[in-house]
Amino acid sequence: MTTFRHVFGPVPSRRFGRSLGVDLTPLKTCSFNCVFCQLGPTPQTTVERREYVPVQTVKDEILRWRDAGGTADYATLSGSGEPTLHSGFGEVLRFLKAELPCPAVLLTNGSLLYLPEVRAAAGQADVAKLSLSAWDDDSFRRINRPHPDLDFHRSVAGMRAFRQGFAGRIWLEVFLIAGLNDAPNQVERIAALAAAIGSDKIHLNTAVRPPAEASVQPVDRDRLAELAELFRPRAEVIADFSARPGSGVAANETALLDMLRRRPCTARQIADVFGMHLNEVAKYTGHLLKTGQIQALQRAQETYFAAPENNRT
Ligand code: SF4
Repeated sequence: MTTFRHVFGPVPSRRFGRSLGVDLTPLKTCSFNCVFCQLGPTPQTTVERREYVPVQTVKDEILRWRDAGGTADYATLSGSGEPTLHSGFGEVLRFLKAELPCPAVLLTNGSLLYLPEVRAAAGQADVAKLSLSAWDDDSFRRINRPHPDLDFHRSVAGMRAFRQGFAGRIWLEVFLIAGLNDAPNQVERIAALAAAIGSDKIHLNTAVRPPAEASVQPVDRDRLAELAELFRPRAEVIADFSARPGSGVAANETALLDMLRRRPCTARQIADVFGMHLNEVAKYTGHLLKTGQIQALQRAQETYFAAPENNRT
């Protein structure tokens, strides 16, 4: 059996179609510890840039995946943490563009774009998806809980500098949380920064899947639609409130549901049993939660997924 450690999917994605994920860091290696992170808490934030996984191993896996007949609409540097922390992420983007016919996408929190070498490496992407959910240093520390060396205004200035030198498309994701950053005056300030950065598209998201902090609550659909009007260009609401299954997920969902009827599991346990990436697990559990087929239970700092009591075996 062909196994991959750094390449996963393709995962069905609303924005990226069938997206091949390329993961360059161990789980939750990140400069942030966002309250809304779907991968759980960051054990220790870092700003250390190094070769967390060997670039050559990643390249070999990409070629093995392609040569086994793999196809995708996009190849995306994403996964378990912040890809720009990997010192070779630009080389991997270059390799993806050279070896795969689909566009290469960088998903980044943008915190390190103040560094010229990170901007140069990020410039290899066809699409850079940045995130912005705060409007000043105080909200940055409450929502994104960054590494202490990071400064909000310097990171935003880095995003602006990146925009000026980047020929590709920039999509900006704004993650809104009820009661934390969804007041109109707060969203107006985020929108002003978004306009200054100058992105091609702005996406509004909210906590429709179980986040790191149980207290984090989603903003409802109608309110997100209203808040979208505050952005220029007008933001698109990308939070998936629908209960429709993603393409090609039905078989895995049935197997996952069978297991959760027998015993509650964490996302990590599901990932291990099914050989899935945590991002894929989040897609399945997100849909099963929305359709009421499973529930999320908080036990000893961990989120467990289980079938409702009347549907357990
Ligand atoms: S949401 Fe992204 S940036 Fe925030 S902690 Fe999770 S991986 Fe890091």
